[in-house]
Amino acid sequence: MNDEPALPPFSAIIVAAGRGLRVGGDTPKQFRQWRGKPVLRHSVEALARAGCSEIVIVAPAGMHEEALAAAGEHLSISAVDGGATRQDSVHAGLRALAPSRPAQVLIHDAARPDLPQNVISALLKALDKHVGAIPALPVVDSLAVCGTGDVMSGKADRETLRRVQTPQAFRFGDIMAAHDAWNGATDAGDDAQVLSASGGSVALVQGDERLKKITFAEDFGDTMTTAQFRVGQGYDVHRLQAGEELWLCGVKLDHDKGLAGHSDADVALHAITDAVLGAVGQGDIGTHFPPSDPKWAGARSAQFLKHAVKLASVAGYAIGNIDLTIICEAPKIGPHRPAMRSEVARITGLAEDAVSIKATTTERLGFTGREEGIAAQAIVGLAKHV
Ligand code: MG
Repeated sequence: MNDEPALPPFSAIIVAAGRGLRVGGDTPKQFRQWRGKPVLRHSVEALARAGCSEIVIVAPAGMHEEALAAAGEHLSISAVDGGATRQDSVHAGLRALAPSRPAQVLIHDAARPDLPQNVISALLKALDKHVGAIPALPVVDSLAVCGTGDVMSGKADRETLRRVQTPQAFRFGDIMAAHDAWNGATDAGDDAQVLSASGGSVALVQGDERLKKITFAEDFGDTMTTAQFRVGQGYDVHRLQAGEELWLCGVKLDHDKGLAGHSDADVALHAITDAVLGAVGQGDIGTHFPPSDPKWAGARSAQFLKHAVKLASVAGYAIGNIDLTIICEAPKIGPHRPAMRSEVARITGLAEDAVSIKATTTERLGFTGREEGIAAQAIVGLAKHV
């Protein structure tokens, strides 16, 4: 690396004027975190490493501060307002650089944060012989021309076509003149087209798949917060009584006593239901299924939990996991745990490994120790993808 000759001096424009709405969230994508730092900063650092002497960031109007904060502390950086079109934005960046009279300029999209050094050096080298140079990649898929009614109307020859990336490199005077001369009535796809329209020769250099544009939320998936998390907890107690059925986690157990209550008194499902309702701020089980309503007499509690899961789902939340503790002296929970786990997973639509069922005694202390009742507490985690 150190043996390589130094690159010729160059300046850069980073176009970061988009609102980036397609990735979701309130912050434009170029200012959001990606691989541990703002998207924009990756490009700034790559350009600085290559020896760039001055960088102009074209920012959304009124967002200079955010742009400079996202760029970080490096060399000579300034920000200008973007225009109505990409050409207007680049033109504004060129005018900001003009007083420094750079010989060469790289024009880059902030949305392509993974900028390899070898692409920068190949582009600058190509400017020895050409007034412009752009990174390009072959088209690997076959191509079709789409006609009226989404019917294929012909084929395109992929051998002659290239996918174009940024940064695009230019001799400064030529790209400035091309932009000055550009008829703003038509939209150019990129700066190479602007230069080409004025007759300049544009070299194609080897692009890099790493330069792909971040567009959709999934591009941020492993490194950015694309989910909102909630936690809910629930607690319930029911009295143990002779002559009642004992239901726990939707499973009927053989025992000399059962739980008393308006519904089937499944204390475990009630605790989980309250935890889910709590996480999405939807009150408690009594809000939705009042004990005063005869409709719920003897009701299976699975329907309460299903309703809570549905309310969470309507709010956009999916349950990630359930952690339940049943507190009782008897019966022993262990032998029934697999059936209970399987039933809770079935009711909630979770995988079994997302359902934890634990049991403890209270060392014969208190109402649970005296076998007067059974208590249950649950915690659930939920996530909403944004
Ligand atoms: Mg209850």
